[in-house]
Amino acid sequence: MTRQLVTDTQNTWCPGCGNFSIQHTLKNVFAAMEKEGKSLDDVVLVSGIGCHAKIVDYLNVNTFYSIHGRTIPVATGIKIANPNLTVICCSGDGDSYAEGLDHLIFAAKRNIDITVLIHNNRVYGLTTGQYTPTSPLGFKGKSTPSGTAEYPLNPIELMLASGATYVARGYTRKMDQLKNLVMEGIAHKGFAFIDVLQICATFFPVSDYYSSRVYELSDHNRTDFESACTKAREWDYNSDAKIALGTFFERSLPSFDEKMGQHRMNAVERERAIQEFLITRT
Ligand code: SF4
Repeated sequence: MTRQLVTDTQNTWCPGCGNFSIQHTLKNVFAAMEKEGKSLDDVVLVSGIGCHAKIVDYLNVNTFYSIHGRTIPVATGIKIANPNLTVICCSGDGDSYAEGLDHLIFAAKRNIDITVLIHNNRVYGLTTGQYTPTSPLGFKGKSTPSGTAEYPLNPIELMLASGATYVARGYTRKMDQLKNLVMEGIAHKGFAFIDVLQICATFFPVSDYYSSRVYELSDHNRTDFESACTKAREWDYNSDAKIALGTFFERSLPSFDEKMGQHRMNAVERERAIQEFLITRT
């Protein structure tokens, strides 16, 4: 029997929220995985705290609703405990670019085989409109009525510098492309990072700004790190430059969970050798 992918839980996102597009995209990804014969029993979706996090209530796969900023350590633990699982993280810009930023950096550095989608609406939506690390300079919100005095973080550049082996950017109004990026991220063996420009219809409704600037990366060599850095710096989350969407960078390296698996096997073999030695002594 085909699984009903969307739950009956009442959805409380605001009308026009970009989270609907991410939910729909993941639903399509899960349907495609089922079609390929992959069991969704082997998929775990982890979220943090924020508007994005409710997605675990709305999709019918194994889910873990974690705590603020700790989405990635929870997902890392799940993957290490059972490397056969496909672990997907949904996190927010307030969740993983602020409170949990260190976890994001170290997950990229370790190359743990999880796929991270950041619902980057560039505002704290659930707490009604405070600025986040990706809000533009001068952003006026509840905590900054005169405008922020900080420049925004560039997460694509940060992830490249941190060693992420798959780095991409999607947009909630380009759902087919976003689906392809998520499928690629899941297929990638190692840490896959996808920054998703998501519209917050209530506190940062900038779809016209994005829609007039986004373009798809083409003629771009995703294995060229320097070229990826150049592309990442084109738009600094603050300017009027064009905004590249697509895969900036990809490379193949052994993943953290593979290496942990080898350590675990070595430990088991060592323990067995000790036991055999003790038996021969008695
Ligand atoms: Fe979506 Fe913004 Fe409403 Fe939260 S506050 S549900 S992010 S539109």
